[in-house]
Amino acid sequence: MIKLEDYDPKRDGGRSWVGFDLDGTLAYHEGYKGRLHIGAPIPATVAMVKHLLERGGTVKIVTARMAPPEWVDDVHVSHVLGAIILWCETHIGQELEVVCAKDKDMFCLVDDRAIQVEKNTGRLCKDTVDYVTDEEFVELLHRCNEKYGNALRALADM
Ligand SMILES: [Mg+2]
Repeated sequence: MIKLEDYDPKRDGGRSWVGFDLDGTLAYHEGYKGRLHIGAPIPATVAMVKHLLERGGTVKIVTARMAPPEWVDDVHVSHVLGAIILWCETHIGQELEVVCAKDKDMFCLVDDRAIQVEKNTGRLCKDTVDYVTDEEFVELLHRCNEKYGNALRALADM
C-alpha cells in the first residue's frame, strides 16, 4: 500500500514526484463551470502539497484539463495552463508543473476518483474501502461480484 510518508524526494536521483489531481482533490468541484473556472482550495490536500514541498519534494498537478484537444469551448489549453498556474501561486504559494499523464517517476497519485489496488494482485486496498459507508460497501461488493469475481474474492480475504 502506497503511503505518502514513504515518499523520498531523493528517490530515483531526485526525479520522483507526487501527482495531485486538481478538480475534486485540490479544488472544490461541483459541476463543470467552464474550462477556466477552478474552485476554491481544499485545505486538507493543499496542506499535503505544502508539506511535501517543504520536505523538498516535487509535486505536479495531474489533470484532464490539460489533455487534448487543444481547443475546448473556444478556450486554448495554454489559457487553461495559465489559470492553473495562477491558482497554484495564489493558494499554494508557488507554481507547479501541470501534466495530464503519469510517467515512470510518479511515486503516487492523489485523486478523488482513484481506487487503489495492491500491486500485482489486484486486491482492493483496505484504506480505500474504509472511506465508504456500509451501504456503499455492500453495493461495491455487488458490483465487484458482477464484474470482477477475483476482486470480490480478494476482498473476502481482507
Ligand atoms: Mg478529480
